[in-house]
Amino acid sequence: MTSWQKILKKSITSPEELVRHLGGNSHDLARVAARYPLRINPYYLDLIKKNGKPLYRQAVPDPRELDDADGMTDPLAEERLSPVANLVHKYPDRALFLVCNKCAMYCRFCTRKRKVGTPGMRITEQTLEAGFNYLRKTPRIREVLLSGGDPLLLNDSRLEYILGRLREIPSIEVVRIGTRVPCTLPMRVTGELAAMLKKFHPLYINTHFNHPAEITPEATLACTRLADAGIPLGCQTVLLKGVNDDARTMYRLMRKLLAIRVKPYYLFQADLTRGTSHFRTRIETGVNIMRYLIGNLSGMAVPTFALDAPGGGGKIPLTPPYVNSCGKTLEFTTWQGTPCSYPNQSKN
Ligand SMILES: *Cc1c(COP(=O)(O)O)cnc(C)c1O
Ligand code: SF4
Repeated sequence: MTSWQKILKKSITSPEELVRHLGGNSHDLARVAARYPLRINPYYLDLIKKNGKPLYRQAVPDPRELDDADGMTDPLAEERLSPVANLVHKYPDRALFLVCNKCAMYCRFCTRKRKVGTPGMRITEQTLEAGFNYLRKTPRIREVLLSGGDPLLLNDSRLEYILGRLREIPSIEVVRIGTRVPCTLPMRVTGELAAMLKKFHPLYINTHFNHPAEITPEATLACTRLADAGIPLGCQTVLLKGVNDDARTMYRLMRKLLAIRVKPYYLFQADLTRGTSHFRTRIETGVNIMRYLIGNLSGMAVPTFALDAPGGGGKIPLTPPYVNSCGKTLEFTTWQGTPCSYPNQSKN
């Protein structure tokens, strides 16, 4: 067993252990954990102990997860959009391929909490083969996004095998991995892993940090190893009530990400997933945060605030309105709120 696997093995997975470390009501925790999986590894537990609420809320089961009557089990209609099990094909040129059903921590707000870390998500040799077959016979798919769960919870040789099989399909130009491991279990990102991944370029990684306190020396080292292997790094942050739903926190997060060579990519409005309503903010919250970020923060550190449309409509950007009207002139407001105009003409 490698050292990251040993750390993962010491994770809290039962309500009793959780109460011993962080207190709380074991009866409530047990009810939630019976429905949705619980895993907090020693690395993230330590971060929770040091930083409190914004990290605690992401990881510790909350009885409100069971009270959510309005939420949808599969808000993005991923099951309907899966031509074969564990492969979601929603856009013309890219597909999401779920290759691992486990994560280094089970986030309470997870969009796929209906199945991630449960027997409801079965990944087998057969589902993988069916996925490879679909990708081979669908050459308009030029980019494959490996996700799960977390693909970096596979061991190096398994991941290398999957990447190798994808690289045998000539129509696949780009591989992208979605992983929260640099944030939740950064010691998983070993020098060997980075050296292996480097063989499969063009390879991109989108990670997932939600709070500036998650950017630790360990997380910095993980991202440095990946960036040094030539892997462009992005971040998909989720806007979460009580975690990062204020402009100053988000500003610090985005700045710190850029400084560890992670380019903020998306800031997501929380999906309508059942069991997550206590995390959801109003649209204006995100738009106002964006209004603060744009102009105050390096453009390279400004993510796109996006909503993943319920029912599988895809991601749509939610940009603060700057344009007031567009006729003979474009009438707009600057980031500082000053009215401005621009003549709207093209001379031949
Ligand atoms: C988010 C998503 C993608 C990738 O979308 P980008 O805008 O390219 O990041 C692809 N497929 C599915 C099913 C998705 O949910
Ligand atoms: S790491 Fe991603 S897939 Fe895993 S529980 Fe968290 S949000 Fe869900």
